[in-house]
Amino acid sequence: MKAAQIQQNKIVINDIEKVTLDNRKGAIVKVLGCGLCGSDIVKFREKISKDGTVLGHEIVAEVVEINSDTKFSAGDKIVSSHHIPCGECVYCRHGNVSMCAHFKKTNIFPGGFSEFVYLSEEHLKNVAYKVPDRISDEEISFYEPLGCCIRAIKRCNLIEGDKVLVVGLGSIGLLMSEGIKASGYKVYGCDLIEDRIELANSMGIESYNSKNLEEFNTKIQKKSCGIDAVFMTSGADKAIDVALKVIRKGGKILVFSSTPNNNGYPNNEIYYNELTILGSYSPSPQDLNDSFNLLVSGKVNVKNLTTTYPLEKIQQAFEDTVNNKIFKAYIKIG
Ligand SMILES: [Zn+2]
Ligand SMILES: [Zn+2]
Repeated sequence: MKAAQIQQNKIVINDIEKVTLDNRKGAIVKVLGCGLCGSDIVKFREKISKDGTVLGHEIVAEVVEINSDTKFSAGDKIVSSHHIPCGECVYCRHGNVSMCAHFKKTNIFPGGFSEFVYLSEEHLKNVAYKVPDRISDEEISFYEPLGCCIRAIKRCNLIEGDKVLVVGLGSIGLLMSEGIKASGYKVYGCDLIEDRIELANSMGIESYNSKNLEEFNTKIQKKSCGIDAVFMTSGADKAIDVALKVIRKGGKILVFSSTPNNNGYPNNEIYYNELTILGSYSPSPQDLNDSFNLLVSGKVNVKNLTTTYPLEKIQQAFEDTVNNKIFKAYIKIG
């Protein structure tokens, strides 16, 4: 079967041994398509993954062979996420399910950018859903990334009337904004790229250029004490300055991206202004369930956010994403 593998800092399509079910529980699925995640880009660019790795985890697939106690059967179109928490360890008991050792260890095999994938029984039981006909493959491929956003929103414990600013309006920023809107809070956005600001505004997310936030700040402060929570989906170190400029006293800054220089948040602002800085990484099965329902019900709109590439053009998809030429790449495979 064909799979896109990392090989000497390139993504190369290779013929690899086809995954088989043998006598295991679980399913072999034919991958119809797989979204290209920001974390795939980071793993590739920062050379975190070794040669031979097949990236990709945002899969839409069709069950071709199954041995399972679940309700799925051959021919079903499904989505699945890749990690499952144990539910019992110290991290799980404290709600930090994505820090769980079992969560990190579980994965789909060999990876989403492949013609076929093995999903374990645990995947089928906890993080897989049958996809109804009314939603497109590209739209439902946002199942896992939206799950990550839902988790971040829940971790912030927002209250009615809260105003949120999303810093960074790439695909994940837009998705986060849509999730915040669907959860009932007022959301604003900012970015440095005009096209993104325009698109966000056209989606009903009031958005500004991060360079002229003074005007925005004055407007917000006329109505209230300021922004209640800032969601950092930008991967730029400088975005931290933006967050500190707009956050109100006692507000929350949700960190949702790594930054190249790993800069910190200032001690004294946190202390004197009683700020809460918190991170959110990856979704729990419950967040994924919420995400699935929001997408299928159409409460979160992800229409026309993807650009589709065939598997053979996956390297191009990586480059176009890195160069901000597109919002979100969807790799069509089957
Ligand atoms: Zn992802
Ligand atoms: Zn655990």
